[in-house]
Amino acid sequence: MNDIVKNDLDLISKELYLESPGLWIDFSDKVGENVFDEFVLYIASKYDYPSIIEYALKNNLIDLNDKSKNSNFNTISKHLINTAKNNNSKKVLNLLLDNNDSCDDCSDINKLEENLNSETDKYIPSFTCTNCDSNILEKGYKIIENKTLKYSTKDDKIVEIKKDVLDTVICVNCNEKLNVKPKELEVVCTINNCTSCKADLRKVGIIAKNQMTYDENTNTFKTENTGYVCSNCNSYINNNQKEYFLLK
Ligand SMILES: [Zn+2]
Ligand SMILES: [Zn+2]
Repeated sequence: MNDIVKNDLDLISKELYLESPGLWIDFSDKVGENVFDEFVLYIASKYDYPSIIEYALKNNLIDLNDKSKNSNFNTISKHLINTAKNNNSKKVLNLLLDNNDSCDDCSDINKLEENLNSETDKYIPSFTCTNCDSNILEKGYKIIENKTLKYSTKDDKIVEIKKDVLDTVICVNCNEKLNVKPKELEVVCTINNCTSCKADLRKVGIIAKNQMTYDENTNTFKTENTGYVCSNCNSYINNNQKEYFLLK
């Protein structure tokens, strides 16, 4: 057993000890006896330690095509893939997919893997519901539209003549009315982006522009105020963005 495996076993052991002491005893006993069965690899999949699965495979300590002890899965491999998916264990998932040649739901899993990758790379804006603590930008929120209708003699039917969005936002998860307006949520979503060219300010950068006035007493220019513009298009960033990026 190489140092990486030993070290990873130690790390898992520590995490498991804190989270579920009962499982920790079983895990430590098995690892102590060099038993790398479905249970041990399940734990490795859950905490995303591919080195341990690799070790078991290399030393023929397990056959992933064997029947799983969990009746929901045909094979150990499927059980571990499912565990890795549910726990967002990307390293283990990659390893298992590379090793899995008889995979009938590979395309699903590959898609899921792509999603996992793109989701973690992407910035997700957040607005937390004060009632249920969910991020409504992820879970969803309802808005209320106010429509004005009228009978049209030209069309011989009722037609919509006006539509506004009310300043109401309702959490889809708990139905609580929230103290925020739809427009404000849009601002939250674009806080990193230039409002004019939509470029990501964190990538293109911003330029500070100092407004300086001449002071006759001291014979010098002094800074009146500083504005910040998008490096891409020279538009000023808004006050919310100034606040968000802690700029003065
Ligand atoms: Zn809620
Ligand atoms: Zn711009």
